[in-house]
Amino acid sequence: MRILVTGAAGFVAYHLIHSLLKEGHVVVGVDNMMSGQERNITDLKSEFKNQFSFIRADINELAPAAIAANPEWASLLSAQTNAAAAKNFERVYHLACPASPPIYQKDMLHTLDTCYIGSRHMYELAAAHKARILIASTSEVYGDPEVHPQPESYRGNVNTVGIRSCYDEGKRAMETMGFIYAEQRGLEVRTARIFNTYGPRMSPIDGRVLTNFISQALAGEALTVFGDGQQTRSFCYVEDLVRGLRLLMESKTTDPVNLGSQFEFTILEMAEKVVHWINPKLTIKYLPLPKDDPKVRRPNTSRAKELLGWETKVSLEEGVGKMIASFKDDLARKG
Ligand code: UDP
Repeated sequence: MRILVTGAAGFVAYHLIHSLLKEGHVVVGVDNMMSGQERNITDLKSEFKNQFSFIRADINELAPAAIAANPEWASLLSAQTNAAAAKNFERVYHLACPASPPIYQKDMLHTLDTCYIGSRHMYELAAAHKARILIASTSEVYGDPEVHPQPESYRGNVNTVGIRSCYDEGKRAMETMGFIYAEQRGLEVRTARIFNTYGPRMSPIDGRVLTNFISQALAGEALTVFGDGQQTRSFCYVEDLVRGLRLLMESKTTDPVNLGSQFEFTILEMAEKVVHWINPKLTIKYLPLPKDDPKVRRPNTSRAKELLGWETKVSLEEGVGKMIASFKDDLARKG
């Protein structure tokens, strides 16, 4: 198949694209490199020379007329008709948008635009190609949840005017838009609500909790716990997530599906684990809790299990072990 992946330089996309290319699919990736890593693209290009093409562009700029007016974009992204239609995309994995709070909060309007305008462009592109589109939605559609764990039927508790709202409300609008394209334009849409995910090739300066803890521990610094560390998260290893995304894409499931880990820890427990695994002498430094930080988060994954036969397989210890090893390799490479 010919497949488009947006947010191609991010770590989830890297693992997804790698698995698609290994099976012989042809992939076009798009990224504006705002939070992705250059190395993810160069590694994919060198390992899969003729199967992978990359466009450095912001999806907010990829309106149909703009694609048509740009020869590079047109040759890789324009839908063909008749005899050439075999070259069209059959699948679009729409992952573009920074997911780390400090990064998506740097330019909140751009984040909102990416979720709304950028997604609109990707729905239009999928419709022109008659492709099925999978959108990367988020546990953030549940906001600071009052129902725990969160089933897909829970409608959420999101602050419309807070520091997370550009992302949370943006992603909610992206889901709404998918519903409209499916209802009124006949587009095939799959909606993954992705919970906290981690693994090799996350950017060490991404600002998220596990990347911070591992980078700090490897540098011999104190680990920064925000608030009292009693807030909880459930961490899913990226390979498990990618398997879930691919199963969802190829399923008939049109309702949103949670993808995430069942194992919930407090952030303080996570810090203590990282200290234990990397260097028991390290200390913990407490910093103020950012506003609107969800107090608890864990998916109810019965739907994913029932409809996709999906469950996580990789334990936290195994997954974090691989992430630590990859961060150590990165440090060694940088000298
Ligand atoms: N956090 C922390 N120290 C850090 C980074 C994050 O204690 O250096 C906390 C953050 O306040 C949140 C949790 O860890 O409660 C997860 O944060 P992350 O940014 O990874 O993602 P979120 O799930 O909040 O979107």
